Amino acid sequence: MDSCIFCKIANGEIPSATIYEDEEVRVILDIAPAAKGHAILLVKKHAANLFELDAQTAGKIFSIVPKVATAIKEELGCDGMNILQNNGEAAGQTVFHLHIHFIPRWNSDTVNIGWKPGSYAEGEAAGLAERIAQRVK
Ligand code: 5GP
Ligand code: ZN
Repeated sequence: MDSCIFCKIANGEIPSATIYEDEEVRVILDIAPAAKGHAILLVKKHAANLFELDAQTAGKIFSIVPKVATAIKEELGCDGMNILQNNGEAAGQTVFHLHIHFIPRWNSDTVNIGWKPGSYAEGEAAGLAERIAQRVK
């Protein structure tokens, strides 16, 4: 993808504050961090989102997450961390090249990354679970 900025960063055409790199990924500090140390893992081979990712690459990518998260936590001394990943505009994705966020969190944080808890009607969750289960290939 010639026009994709994360392709250029992931493959080293544009310099970045890199904290980890191997053949398939590059992890960099986010340019507009939610907190100091906020990092993003970029795949080197362009995929717009998780729905375009093959299982083998997904496995490789997610196997890297714990060691990078641990390194960030050790250096920052944060109390917790949100690992999140946005797929599609509706989900808050703004750069359409797959990436995983590492956001350090502190007990004193006032901002919450979360959602308002909802609910299901009687039997609704079981029915929905069953329908989704049938689609898992
Ligand atoms: P999204 O909303 O797509 O999940 O997250 C995109 C993230 O990429 C944002 O947190 C944004 O700050 C970060 N970002 C966008 N452009 C650049 C850039 O050129 N360099 C770096 N390091 N981060 C970027
Ligand atoms: Zn790309």
